[in-house]
Amino acid sequence: MPYITRWSAERAPAMRVVAKNGGIGYADERPYDRDTNGVLWTRVPSLPGRGRPEFGKVHAVRQRRAMEALLCQICAGPADRTADGVLWMLGENPNELDGSGAGFGEFITAQPPLCSPCAVTSAHACPHLRRRCTVLRARVFDLVGVRGAFYRPGYPAPIAWDANSVGFDDPRIRWIRAGQSLMRLRGITVGDLDALRASAVGAPSAPPPSGF
Ligand SMILES: [Zn+2]
Repeated sequence: MPYITRWSAERAPAMRVVAKNGGIGYADERPYDRDTNGVLWTRVPSLPGRGRPEFGKVHAVRQRRAMEALLCQICAGPADRTADGVLWMLGENPNELDGSGAGFGEFITAQPPLCSPCAVTSAHACPHLRRRCTVLRARVFDLVGVRGAFYRPGYPAPIAWDANSVGFDDPRIRWIRAGQSLMRLRGITVGDLDALRASAVGAPSAPPPSGF
């Protein structure tokens, strides 16, 4: 099961969100509820393997850890790295930061990187990804914001009203309850699955990809 996938026992408890310091906070907030940028994070239990995997749902803490430590999003081993940079595989809409998006030749993504064997395996396991994915390496990468639940002022408590992606330099960041880190990728070299498969020692054999 992918490392960053959330399990059914890991649903976030209902937290009481209050207005705090020109934004939102928890009524019983703890220091670990915020990251080093002061951003409020969804408080989730860590119970991987309990219940059922919830495909398409991402565990906030493991996703953030994979981004910060450059771990493979599937196996949690080190992401693949060569002179061209760290390996990423992005889907149809690679830029996930709304509004102040990425510049020319850069991508902003909530997808953590991958190791080569997992990239090859997942590209063949998922027809959608096989059709639309871009394999690339990035020499420069930095965390630039978060994706999460966006709140607006309300009475008696702030009201969650949208999912949004916001940069750390955007004042709206104080109104986000974060669920995923966003990474900006620069110094991009676009690759292909054939080259990746050739370099992926130990990868299972798979039929030739279509569309590459
Ligand atoms: Zn892996």
